[in-house]
Amino acid sequence: MKKILIWTSLFIVLAGCTQDDQGASLNAKSADGVQFGIKTKSPLELVVESDDNEQEQEKEKESEQNGSEADVITVDNPHETDVIVNKQRRLPEGFEPKDLVEPNVSFNAPEGNPKRLMKKEAAQALEDLFEGAKNAGFDLYAQSGYRSIETQTWIYNNNVETKGQEHADKYSAVPGHSEHHTGLAMDITIPLETGGFLGLEEALGETDAGQWVAEHAHEYGFVIRYPEGKSHITGYEYEPWHLRYFGIELATEIHESRLTVEEFFDLY
Ligand SMILES: [Zn+2]
Repeated sequence: MKKILIWTSLFIVLAGCTQDDQGASLNAKSADGVQFGIKTKSPLELVVESDDNEQEQEKEKESEQNGSEADVITVDNPHETDVIVNKQRRLPEGFEPKDLVEPNVSFNAPEGNPKRLMKKEAAQALEDLFEGAKNAGFDLYAQSGYRSIETQTWIYNNNVETKGQEHADKYSAVPGHSEHHTGLAMDITIPLETGGFLGLEEALGETDAGQWVAEHAHEYGFVIRYPEGKSHITGYEYEPWHLRYFGIELATEIHESRLTVEEFFDLY
C-alpha cells in the first residue's frame, strides 16, 4: 500500500511539472544519441518531435566513421533497383535518379519539397503499400524520401564552414552514402491521436501500424532495411521507419530469408 502511494505521488509530481499552458519543453537523448525535443501540452499529451534530417545524418555519419576511406567502393549500378549503398559502398559523384515522381499518398512533409519524391516504380509501390495499410485500418504518412547528393554536400560543407569540421562530422552525413540519394527509400510515420506525428523512432516498430508494415511491406516490394539488433552488420541502428524498395520478388526473398540486405547479397 505504501509503495502504491509513493508511486502515485511520484506520478503526480512528474505529471505536475509538465502542466504549463505554454507547453513545457524537455530535451531527451535516445540510445543512439539522437536529440529529440519533447514538447508537452498537458500531462497526458506528449508530442515527440525529432529532426529526421539530423537523425538520419547522424546515423549515416556514424556508419561512415566505422569504415576507413580505403574500404569504400563506388557502386557501378546506381540506377538499378538492387543497388546496395552502405558505409563501404557509395554512389558515383553527382549521381541523380532518372525518374523521380511524387507518390499519391499522404505526407508529413512540405508541399514541393524534394523529400516527397521517389523513383517512379518505387512511388507506385508505395501507393499500393499505403492502400494496403489503409484497408487493414492503418494510416501511413510519407515523411522523407529523396535527398540529393548535392543537397547533402551543401549541408555538410555549410556545417564545416559555420560550425567547424568536428561538428560537421558529428551531425552531417558524408554525401554519397545514403539510400535516400537513390530514390528507392522512404521514411514513414503515423499520426498521433494527440495531434502531430510520431518521430522517426523505434517506437514505430511497436505500434500496430509498424507491425503491420514489418509483416506486409515485402508484399508491396519493400523491406525494413535496418532491422533490430543488426547494426553490427548494416552499420545502422534499428530503423522501423526506413523502407527500401527492391521490387516484390526480391523483397519477398529477402524477407523470407530473415537475413539483412548485406548478408543476403553476400556483402558482409
Ligand atoms: Zn531513412
